[in-house]
Amino acid sequence: MLVGKTLGEVAKLIKPGVPLYYIDKVAEEFIRDNHGVPSFKGYAGFPASLCLSVNDVIVHGIPNSDVLRDGDIITVDCGAELGGWHGDYAYTFAVGEISEEKRLLVERTKASLYAGIKAVKVGNHIGDISHAVESYVKPFNYGVIRELCGHGIGRRMHEAPDIPNYGKPGSGELIRTGMVFCVEPMIAMGSHRIKIDADEWTTRTADGKPAAHFEHQIAITSKGPEVISTYQFVEEALGIKH
Ligand code: MG
Ligand code: MG
Repeated sequence: MLVGKTLGEVAKLIKPGVPLYYIDKVAEEFIRDNHGVPSFKGYAGFPASLCLSVNDVIVHGIPNSDVLRDGDIITVDCGAELGGWHGDYAYTFAVGEISEEKRLLVERTKASLYAGIKAVKVGNHIGDISHAVESYVKPFNYGVIRELCGHGIGRRMHEAPDIPNYGKPGSGELIRTGMVFCVEPMIAMGSHRIKIDADEWTTRTADGKPAAHFEHQIAITSKGPEVISTYQFVEEALGIKH
């Protein structure tokens, strides 16, 4: 919930001319003001509270002095710990007016997340989630990023099992009550191949085409799967109605 509220605050800042480091600063202050700790800051040496990934950057972009420009897409990935438990979710935003092909990439990546979530059922396997995401984007000839995946989460940000965005139905671990994990499709407009910058974090598409990324967190409760992350605050800030 704290991550959701932080993303809601961030959503208000997504405009041409805003520098990335400023978005990170506002998010970190918001998390700390609400008694949380940014999960990413210092994680394996990551220097910031948010991963801000613009256009061809898929994930792990480091907030710097670059400014947002009209027509960019930016993925904001946010993690926070509150009371010993981690939250981790991501949303790709449009900056000003974006091209139709970027709009479709973002919309379909988000839809692939919900396709994956539909496969989250007790008795299904992790591979059913992977397969649902991959099958959803396949008709669009998008690249499914293979090196990075969703993950279990709890007292640590990254726990077993891995949740790839491609795979065979019925493969992988059985989905059981008590599991909490993140499903997070990372989808590229072109090839799935990646390259990593000299900073050892910034992960881009090798062909320079844009990529999008959405992440939700799901708990398998005794009553069944429940999405415990929320885009409510983002969508209120963006004026999206359901
Ligand atoms: Mg994650
Ligand atoms: Mg994340």
